Amino acid sequence: MSKAAPISLWDESAEEREHTQDLDGNITTDVAIVGGGFTGLSTALHAAERGVECHVLEANHIGFGGSGRNVGLVNAGLWLPPQDVRDKLGEQLGAQLIKILGEAPAYVFSLIEQHQIRCEATHNGTIHAAHSPKGLEDLARRTEEWHRLGAPVDLLSREETAEKVGSSAFYGGLLDHRAGTINPMGYVRGLARAALGAGAKISTGVTVKKLVRDGNKWIVETDQGEVTANRVVLGTNAYSDDLWPGLRRTFTMIHFFQCATAPLGERGQSILPERQGLWDTGSIMFSLRRDAFGRLIIGSMGKAIGGDRGLSRRWARRNIRRLFPDLGDVDIETAWHGQIAMTDDHLPRIHRLDEGLYTPIGYNGRGITPGTIFGKAMGELLSGGKEDELPLPMSEPISAPRGPLMSRVYDMAFTANQIIKSI
Ligand SMILES: Cc1cc2nc3c(=O)[nH]c(=O)nc-3n(C[C@H](O)[C@H](O)[C@H](O)COP(=O)(O)OP(=O)(O)OC[C@H]3O[C@@H](n4cnc5c(N)ncnc54)[C@H](O)[C@@H]3O)c2cc1C
Repeated sequence: MSKAAPISLWDESAEEREHTQDLDGNITTDVAIVGGGFTGLSTALHAAERGVECHVLEANHIGFGGSGRNVGLVNAGLWLPPQDVRDKLGEQLGAQLIKILGEAPAYVFSLIEQHQIRCEATHNGTIHAAHSPKGLEDLARRTEEWHRLGAPVDLLSREETAEKVGSSAFYGGLLDHRAGTINPMGYVRGLARAALGAGAKISTGVTVKKLVRDGNKWIVETDQGEVTANRVVLGTNAYSDDLWPGLRRTFTMIHFFQCATAPLGERGQSILPERQGLWDTGSIMFSLRRDAFGRLIIGSMGKAIGGDRGLSRRWARRNIRRLFPDLGDVDIETAWHGQIAMTDDHLPRIHRLDEGLYTPIGYNGRGITPGTIFGKAMGELLSGGKEDELPLPMSEPISAPRGPLMSRVYDMAFTANQIIKSI
């Protein structure tokens, strides 16, 4: 397959080599995995390590979805504060999920180490920065609960945050020492390499068109041939198409965009000097980080709009000026966006769609750790594990009827936000 234009900065800067391979006619496998992102490839890696024959089918190329486009924050826990996760899931299940995902960054970094994945990994924490006094109250509440759970997080004062970020724009911050940053495309390509090494097969440029149950088998119809499998895992998340009817109506899809400056050299050294990644407490949140080459990468909710002199680049330059008034003018090299699957309660799901057909889905913009961990859990299930050992109980998909409408409403609100904050 010849490759189209890069989908993100990471697509160009990742050191890991990309794996591409056609599907070689009709094949039979034990497990067919649809989607070559964190979920699909972690499933393949962990299943193959346990001796399960599996084959990943990716419509485009490895990391084409959220996995190759995200901010690269390897976060602990969920989007929601831990106490809210327990309120929604119940004491026992909530505590179990928080514990598993609290420990998840350590697992991601251990995979990076084990497989020597070249992905610009830094393990110096992430900062959730308060954009307002109310935001700081939210962070204090989160900190208190994480401390009760024994997690290594610090509530930073305004001055401490200014020192760590190199900007006095924030009211304080929550520094989570468990977390870190990666080049996400490097990581996902590294997972692909590790999965191949463990014996999994991966085909790219193969769109799965239909899933047909035939006795106790699945016939996976693709645009390149047929795959017969005993079990199927969909790792398609926010990039789900109409393959499984109704699946993409189980979440609201929103966009998130990022802009990367040219490498800033010396003058960028005082920004996030310890290379933590950052996001803020605003309801239309923004993210900020550096890469290994000294680029500053800033993003927010919505699409990347316009070309070189377009809206998103204006927004980026304006916000970099607001945060770092002494920095001077910056060139924006690249802008891109991706899709995020938001669930109504901000909790992820593992659905059983049919006999032997599963999908972990709905990571609410936090998928590096859940994608890796839920993929591992799928690998364990497929190799004889029990359903009650999954991080979350299997659930039936529930349609979010207002999802498509809300996607459009959010897109309009995010565009308006970009316009207002570009002036
Ligand atoms: C801009 C952005 C910023 C984000 N920032 C962060 C962050 O900092 N930290 C974090 O933890 N998470 C972040 N996320 C979320 C995270 O990227 C996702 O949750 C994660 O990548 C989901 O991984 P996945 O493997 O489940 O799905 P994806 O990576 O989206 O992969 C799905 C794949 O399925 C393929 N596919 C779909 N349909 C078919 C079909 N019919 N046949 C074959 N293939 C198919 C697609 O081509 C795609 O490659 C962000 C997301 C975005 C978009």
